[in-house]
This record gives sequence, C-alpha cells and structure tokens, in this order.
Amino acid sequence: MRIYNSATHKKEEFQPIESGKVRMYVCGPTVYDNIHIGNARTFISFDVIRRWLIASGYEVTFAQNLTDVDDKIINRANEQGRTAAEVATEFSDKFIGVMRAANVLDPDVRPRATKEIGPMIAMIKTLIEQGHAYAADNGDVYFAVRSDPNYGQVSGRNIDDLMVGARIEENEDKNDPLDFALWKAAKPGEPSWPSPWGEGRPGWHTECAAMVHRYLGTPIDIHGGGSDLAFPHHENECAQATCAWHQGFSNTWMHTGMLLVDGEKMSKSLGNFFTLAEVLEQHSAAALRLLMLQTSYRSPLDFSWERLEGAENSLTRIAGTVENLRWAANHATADADEAASEAFADKAAETRAAFKECMDDDFNTAGAMGAVFGFVTECNQYLEQAGDAADKAAALAAADTLAELLDTFGIELPEPKVELPLGLLGVAAGLVAYTGDDVDEAAAKILEARAEARAAKNWDLADAIRDQLKDLGLTIEDTAAGTRIKSL
Ligand code: AMP
Ligand code: ZN
Repeated sequence: MRIYNSATHKKEEFQPIESGKVRMYVCGPTVYDNIHIGNARTFISFDVIRRWLIASGYEVTFAQNLTDVDDKIINRANEQGRTAAEVATEFSDKFIGVMRAANVLDPDVRPRATKEIGPMIAMIKTLIEQGHAYAADNGDVYFAVRSDPNYGQVSGRNIDDLMVGARIEENEDKNDPLDFALWKAAKPGEPSWPSPWGEGRPGWHTECAAMVHRYLGTPIDIHGGGSDLAFPHHENECAQATCAWHQGFSNTWMHTGMLLVDGEKMSKSLGNFFTLAEVLEQHSAAALRLLMLQTSYRSPLDFSWERLEGAENSLTRIAGTVENLRWAANHATADADEAASEAFADKAAETRAAFKECMDDDFNTAGAMGAVFGFVTECNQYLEQAGDAADKAAALAAADTLAELLDTFGIELPEPKVELPLGLLGVAAGLVAYTGDDVDEAAAKILEARAEARAAKNWDLADAIRDQLKDLGLTIEDTAAGTRIKSL
C-alpha cells in the first residue's frame, strides 16, 4: 500500500511501526456550531481511509479529539448568554449524532480538551525544562519556535519566510513573533484551570500533541486533517511533541483537499456553507459519500446540488442492478450458459482486484468507484444477454461484490422500494383464484392471470389487473429475465 506523505511530498510504501497495527489521529472539530459539509469531507475521507486499512487486515486504533474550549466557543457563549460548557456540550452531541448519520464510524478514543488539562500541563512543563518554552510575565506560556531546529518539517515552511509578515499582537508577551501560545492566562469571565503559571487555559495546538502522546503513544503511523491545518496547527503540534519527547510524532502526514462552492473554500467565515445536518435532511448519506468519493481525497472537490442529485441517481442505478441480479438469480427458468457464466464470474473478480489496486494506491477512491461503475454496466449487459437463463451463483456473487465494495466506502445501497405489499393478496383474491398467504406466489398468479387474459384478448380483465396494481403503487415490468411486479 502506498500513501502520499504531505510532509515529504511523495507517495511512500506504507510500513506501520508495529506490524499489522495502525495508530491514527485526525484533528476533530471545535464545537461552537454545527459542522458544514466541508468539515464533513475531511471526516468522511478519513473514515474511508480507516475502513480500507481495516479491510486490508490492519488493527486500527483511531483517535479524534473534540476541541471544547476555545475563543470561538467562549464568544458564542457570551453572545447567547450561556456558559462555554453548555455551548460545547450542545455541539459535541450534535457532531457525534450527525457523524453517525453520515455513517462515519465512531473513533476508538474521543478525548476532550477540557478533560486533558493535566497531560497538557505536564507536556508544557517538559518543554520549559528543556528550554523549548518560556512563561511570560502576563501568565502566558509560549513555545520558542527557533529552539526547534526541525521547525517547518510538516508544512515545508522556512523560518525566514515565516518572519515576513509575522508580528506580535497587543495582548501578547512573546520574545519572538514566531512563537505560539501553549497556555493562555485567564481573562475575566473565561473558563480557566489552575496551573504552575496561574489560572489559564491551553492553546489549541497543545491539546492534539498531548492527546496523541497519551492515547496512541508517539510516534504514530498517520496524522490527518484538512490541508488548511498543515500550517500552523500541525506544524506546531509536531514541534511540541518532538521537542518534548524526542520520539518523532507522525510517520505519515495526510491532508485532505478543500471542499469548494463556486470555486471558493466552504467556510463559516465566508458564509457559503451548508451544514451536514441540513444536507442529510434532503439527501441520503450514501449519496453524499458517493459524491465525495468520486474525487480523490487530496484534490479540491466542487460541491453543487446538481452533483449531489447525480450521485443519488447513480446510487439508484446501482441498487437497481443489484436488485435485478438477485431477482434474475432467483427466477431463472432455463439452464445457464456455462462459458458466459464463467466469463461473468471472472469480471467480478477483476473488479475486486481493480478496486484494491486503486485503493492501495493512496486511497484512490475515484478510480475504485470507476471500477464499480464499469462492473455495473457489465452486470446489466450480462442480465440482458442471459435473459431467463442467468447463472444463479454468478448473479448472486456479482450482487454481493457490488454491495461489499460499496460497504468498504460506508455506502449502503437503498433498499428496493417495497417488498411486495400484502394488498397484493387482496388483488389476487379478487381477480384470480388465490387463497394462500404468500405474496410472491400471489404475484406469480396475477402475472399468469394477466398473461392468460391478454392471450384470450380479454382486455378488460388485463386492464383491471393493471389498474388495481397501480392503486397499490405497483407496476408490471418486462425485463430480459422475465416479467415482474415492481414498485412504481
Ligand atoms: P475546524 O473545526 O475549523 O477545525 O475544522 C474541522 C476540520 O474540517 C479540519 O480538519 C479542517 O481542516 C476541515 N475543513 C474545514 N473546512 C473545510 C473545507 N472547506 N473542506 C474540507 N475540509 C475542511
Ligand atoms: Zn490537531
């Protein structure tokens, strides 16, 4: 398996630190509001990466934090006359709920910043002892960027370039404009915790480094987030961890491309966002995931409602093929052609191999989806050619292949719209001589009665059967494999 490491700008052969195991961390949200589908793109991308690692046989431990103390949360709380803790609790709960609705697997560990103050203070102390950090007179603690000879290793930045435009804000007490806060002295009315430097709260970059160390141990195999986090957030996480513990921080850095609307990054500040919750009210999680995975995770992704509608249609098409494969397998009346069945079974195996090859190449979900769509076309061709002589095993295996490959993407196919309804028994009882309680059998009787009526040119009866089915939301469909009753 090859993974693009954004710190080295190369695809590298993936070698986990501990054989068969992967330790992975992805920065979670700051919980001051509902997340938008740009945030969701990053979380869904890493969900699929994690699912593929698991499907490849790795034992994956996945940690993701919740940033539940931050300026944005405090500001929101002040605006709404609530406590920061109330705001954070509301949006943590909403985040967890909407991630589940999007079929994103829960992390194995979900630490919250406010519950990890002790480990963060310990890390800051270690950094001060080693001369990598200093406490300023105002109660802030800063990381001394120039004390880290490797600063810039994650984002490829160079210290001299960073100096251009760097400045010290009025309320800061830094020795160097490049330095960043590890600990912020409390301001009146803000949540705060006691520390050796007085009451205060941790800086944002501090929490991820401390949590990775505590829950996964450094170094880890994969650290991820959106590409907008590479600098300064990931650079600063890495500087703290490597200077505190001297063990390296993450072997591979993965960054997702941004989700765009009309060419611009979707963001809260631009106001060009749709929340994940509102999108999932109108569309299935499966369609949203399909839309996202048709572009590979590193590329920018253009969102539009038309594209989402298109993904919904693609899903319906795939689900229809799966349904037709299963129906043809269970209703074949003639013997299958052996050579055609074998050739078809081979196509399923080739599709799985092509899918794997794409996914093993830096999680190329776009290529993998291409293999799935190609196979859908082949399935439809096979059904057309086989008619009522589909090979049961090959058709069922093809249906399973499609469902399983989509499942590794966390995409659940829509269920066929209806099981044939019980009302069908009533129709059967009224129009044909049937008194049993088996819906499939009733359907067969009705189709038989209709075929007989048409053969006898009894158009009134044939039409009455069709109309009564229509009242039940059903239609009669002629397919290559035979005639069947389907939902409208
Ligand atoms: P935040 O709560 O702003 O820290 O964002 C949470 C995650 O969403 C981070 O990994 C961001 O990089 C990511 N993110 C924010 N905006 C976008 C976007 N438009 N497209 C993709 N990922 C994004
Ligand atoms: Zn982080």
